[in-house]
Amino acid sequence: MKFGGSSVEDAGAFCRVANIVGERLEQRPVVVVSAMAGMTDALLAAVALAANHRRVEADTLLQPHFARHAAVCEELLTPAEAVQFKVTLEHHQEEVSTLLNSFSSDPSQRAALKDGVLATGELLSSALLSAVMRSSGIPAITIDAQRCIVTDAEFGNAGPSLTETTKQTQAEVLPVLRELQVPVLGGFIAASASGQTTTLGRGGSDYTASIVGAAISAPEIQIWTDVPGVLTADPRVVPRAVTIPRLSYDEAAELAYFGAKVLHPKTIQPAVEGAIPVRICNSRAPAGESTLVCAEIETAAQTVKAIAHKTGITTVQVSSARMLGAYGFLRAIFEVFDRHRKVVDVVTTSEVSVSLSLDDASELDAIVAELESLGTVSVETERAMICVVGAGLRGTPGIAARVFSTISDINVMLISQGSSSINLTFVIEERQLNEAVRRLHETFFEAETVQESTKAERLKAASSTVL
Ligand code: ADP
Ligand code: ASP
Ligand code: MG
Repeated sequence: MKFGGSSVEDAGAFCRVANIVGERLEQRPVVVVSAMAGMTDALLAAVALAANHRRVEADTLLQPHFARHAAVCEELLTPAEAVQFKVTLEHHQEEVSTLLNSFSSDPSQRAALKDGVLATGELLSSALLSAVMRSSGIPAITIDAQRCIVTDAEFGNAGPSLTETTKQTQAEVLPVLRELQVPVLGGFIAASASGQTTTLGRGGSDYTASIVGAAISAPEIQIWTDVPGVLTADPRVVPRAVTIPRLSYDEAAELAYFGAKVLHPKTIQPAVEGAIPVRICNSRAPAGESTLVCAEIETAAQTVKAIAHKTGITTVQVSSARMLGAYGFLRAIFEVFDRHRKVVDVVTTSEVSVSLSLDDASELDAIVAELESLGTVSVETERAMICVVGAGLRGTPGIAARVFSTISDINVMLISQGSSSINLTFVIEERQLNEAVRRLHETFFEAETVQESTKAERLKAASSTVL
């Protein structure tokens, strides 16, 4: 059971989590928890200040966040637990202070130091949650996730080593479960083989939950968050979005990869490997709707199951007549991105040009300079990517026509369909994003005509062999 930052934002939220876990003790849960809402952002901001020699401001910024932990402690812990947690809190405050002091003195160690600072959020929330649980009679024990998840030394985006992690996690977690206690681990944090603190990337607690679930062969991985499951679109853009009761692993992975923040993009992989269902539940309404993600593919009545989006996209186009009939051109382009360790999301090619999209535009100047040796380069920033997802999409006629006729007055810069049979992805200007997503949601999920048109689509999807 993984609880995100918004599920532990204050004392009331901690109480809800303790109740949810307490009501499910017979299922022998393992709990993974994120930092309190806003804590990781604050720690990141403190790191940036310390790196700019603004050390005192970093302390001032963090103060209220440590105070939030103290407030939950005062409100919910028994006196004995409170004494113990205050010692933990002071210890981590001192630890952060020491790490921040080293920032200006040793720039070569900054990435490692930064992960050390960021880990504080989860180290504190896991200690606090297990104390809250014990204070309400649940036999909880904090386990340091750094002793379970073993990664490479790619600070900020570390990759777990499966064999070591499985061995360590089983050794740490299973004995606690056997004693009918509830292990509580911080998400997001891990350690390299040499014992240095690493982190799994922003939003990485979901990934921790599925790594741990797979390591102990859990019957289910539950992601408890602030919305009722995976919705048909981001509710911040489409307030009328509704819960999708079931998704296949592939559909959920595409949605996560293309921007549905409710799941970290890497969450699905360990679940697929262990054939473990993933359930996304609402910690604010535990008995309400949820989404179940599993291997079965279920074609939605209207084929399209959800619309995901990402902002802050940059597109890069490389054009060269030399590409015509020549081999090695694509390789040369991708080698540039490889050297800069940049992930390319979508690629399209014509005879003489290649367009691709990036969601991390750092080092762009250097990348463009290298690409210019291959052809004429043009860059467009402030773009957004929309991804329409649903099993059977490729085999169902008319979907692309409906998508693009719905937004016919919005300029579409890059389109990709077919590389996966379940998604249609395209790039537009960022300023038109909300309008486009709302209209698409209306077309596929709200319009009265959906019911009529879906009947025909359902028949076609059922008779299609391409899923
Ligand atoms: P947590 O702190 O629990 O990890 P996140 O903020 O990381 O929560 O993820 C939940 C948020 O994801 C929701 O509040 C919602 O704004 C956003 N979100 C984006 N797309 C979707 C979607 N398709 N379905 C549900 N939530 C989504
Ligand atoms: N606390 C981390 C973050 O904010 C990890 C997580 O919440 O999943 O990115
Ligand atoms: Mg999250």
